[in-house]
Amino acid sequence: MKKSILFLFLTVSIGLFAQKKAQSLSFRVVPLGVKGGIDESNLSAYMVAPAGTKDYICMDAGTVHTGIEKAIANKAFTTGTDEVLKNYIKGYFISHGHLDHVSGLIITSPDDSSKTVYALPNTMRMLEDYYFNGEAWANFGDEGKSFLIKKYHFKSLIAGEEANIHNTSMQVKAFPLSHVNPYESTAFLIKNSDSYILYLGDTGSDSTEKSNKLQLLWQNVAPLIKAKQLKGIFIEVSFPNDQPDTKLFGHLTPKWLMKEMSVLNELVGGNGVKDLNLVVTHVKPPTTRIKQLTKELKEGNKLGLNLIFPQQGKAFGL
Ligand SMILES: [Zn+2]
Ligand SMILES: [Zn+2]
Repeated sequence: MKKSILFLFLTVSIGLFAQKKAQSLSFRVVPLGVKGGIDESNLSAYMVAPAGTKDYICMDAGTVHTGIEKAIANKAFTTGTDEVLKNYIKGYFISHGHLDHVSGLIITSPDDSSKTVYALPNTMRMLEDYYFNGEAWANFGDEGKSFLIKKYHFKSLIAGEEANIHNTSMQVKAFPLSHVNPYESTAFLIKNSDSYILYLGDTGSDSTEKSNKLQLLWQNVAPLIKAKQLKGIFIEVSFPNDQPDTKLFGHLTPKWLMKEMSVLNELVGGNGVKDLNLVVTHVKPPTTRIKQLTKELKEGNKLGLNLIFPQQGKAFGL
């Protein structure tokens, strides 16, 4: 008798907890690829939608098709690959022109539906000049070289200016990042109603890049953290701490990430970045190195960030 009452109590409390958690989630994330190298079936790409909708956007597009297949196998979606690719993904946000962030977009383009590709002008120029140029690949876009197939609308964003995300209720603001100065990468601040997420493409720290791009970005998002409106930051950690600063190639290590988080923490004030969701992206194989950097991140997490290590095809909420 006692046992069954306890069981009932536990079931009800877990149920209530789960319900509360589900209600407070603002975005659903389905990672299509989570790594920063070598495994071409698992490269940076994150589907993000306002919770309870199918209006996804894809942040970077390193791996698309395999990621959708894995997500379906994991029951993150209950429909076919074609439906997810063509109807769920409403647009792509490309942080920079490196192949590990665009190869999925290029390869799936003949089988994709009409939608918008968003990027800052430098990245858009790279897409048009080097990939969708009628030589490396047909031009599926609506501007650039060669015959224009016009399946994709190439929408160049203006840094710092809010733009609507077509076919969704979301808006975006893009900020330039430094990824081996002066090479430019991008952070996208995604807004839905009064909730936000921040996705950063590849970036080094301001110290190693001799830049102030992250400082400027942190100044912009600190008020959102203070107001509890920023639901998560996607940021890269490519190497463990023993990677020499001369061999970072515009990337972060746990040490450099935590230095940047300290800057952000100061700007936020009060409880700072405590409990803020931090999604760790772009971890570079081999597995032993990923294990090492994961351990270093957990040990170095003095600010109390909620570290999230995404898995390909496994959905989570923010
Ligand atoms: Zn990369
Ligand atoms: Zn890169």
